[in-house]
Amino acid sequence: MNTLIFYRDWIACPSCDRLHIRPRLLPGHVALCKSCGTRLTGRCMYGTALPLALCLTALVGWIIAMTLPFIAIGFGGQHQTISLPSAVIILTQHNMLPLAIFTGLLLIAAPLISILLLIYLLFFLYHKTKPPFYRFMLKAFSRIRFWDMTDVYLISIIVVLVKAMHMADIQLLHGFWAFCIQVFFIRFSFLVIPVRDMWQRLSRPGLNPAPLPGKRAIATGLVPCHTCTRIHKTGQKRCTRCASPLHNRIPQSINRTFALTITAFILYIPANLYPIMITENLGTTIYSTIIGGVILLWETKAYAVASIVFFASVFIPLAKLLALLYLTGSVYFRKKNYPNDLTKIYKITEFIGKWSMVDVFVVATLAAMIQMGSLATIQPGIAATAFAAMVVITLFAAETFDPRLLWDSTPQGKNNEQS
Ligand SMILES: [Zn+2]
Ligand SMILES: [Zn+2]
Repeated sequence: MNTLIFYRDWIACPSCDRLHIRPRLLPGHVALCKSCGTRLTGRCMYGTALPLALCLTALVGWIIAMTLPFIAIGFGGQHQTISLPSAVIILTQHNMLPLAIFTGLLLIAAPLISILLLIYLLFFLYHKTKPPFYRFMLKAFSRIRFWDMTDVYLISIIVVLVKAMHMADIQLLHGFWAFCIQVFFIRFSFLVIPVRDMWQRLSRPGLNPAPLPGKRAIATGLVPCHTCTRIHKTGQKRCTRCASPLHNRIPQSINRTFALTITAFILYIPANLYPIMITENLGTTIYSTIIGGVILLWETKAYAVASIVFFASVFIPLAKLLALLYLTGSVYFRKKNYPNDLTKIYKITEFIGKWSMVDVFVVATLAAMIQMGSLATIQPGIAATAFAAMVVITLFAAETFDPRLLWDSTPQGKNNEQS
């Protein structure tokens, strides 16, 4: 029975729900789930000092990237430089508010808030004290860092350079290189300090029920917190560590994922049929669709960039939508085989989602750069909004899908419950 005992701690795999005893790890080691190989926990090799230094460097990089010019454009005798914040202002002034909001939130606000939250948490951890309001700060960090898409933007800049090469002289300036430093250092600190492990550092395990490791949490009347991993008895409404609502499975997971996937599918059609970018160059207007842009890049022998745009804008969104349909279908029709393979498909789907934003950032950057009045202008087409909405809805669809459903009622899941 579920008697309460003192024990180190249990951890349930977020992908398959299998219970493990939380191991005591050596620095640099990670613990993987025995059933599906998902990373359960890890121990940072570098302590707190290095991640804190990385975050402070990323903050300096962010400040320089926002204040110094990012790109210089020379076109028809006109020259101008733009910084990232001025690009957002240009988009707002030219009635491209959705793109301005997207760019401002995903490339400026989300990275800054993530860096500041991480510095705050690491500063207190470095001084071996518990940060005030750490529950709120850590939950905010785990949500907001998901929306930091600065790494995707670096790929977009390569595409912009190739696309605008024939139209204008483009030079990357100090602001861009500072931006690269910010992206590199913040990604590295995310890598060495995963959020789930920070919960462990900040809050010691309390009294824990005593299930047998190897069983699944749901089979032993336990429910793990989705945010901080602490395990509770089923029936507990909120997590005793982070106050997040507790559910055995994400409520209405399949219905919500299916509805969001179908919505994204509908948006995929106008995103591909209508022009994503409208270029006016010396009196000529060119409407380019996503696939038209790929063909143009291919014809100008920019094969690598054409392939990147094709994969990011055509292949990945479609593959992701089909994968989500397949996964929801597998759970709905209680497909009893291969939960391990399906979990891998889900993890890939989750990982590749944001890379589809490449083309949206390309259009936003070109539209901010090329506003030369009667000489040349670039405007986003209706497909840009449809495409951006599709990517965001697909990201939500992947988040509402609960991969543990893939293991419920499968022979593999049952075996774990019996072992
Ligand atoms: Zn697992
Ligand atoms: Zn929690």
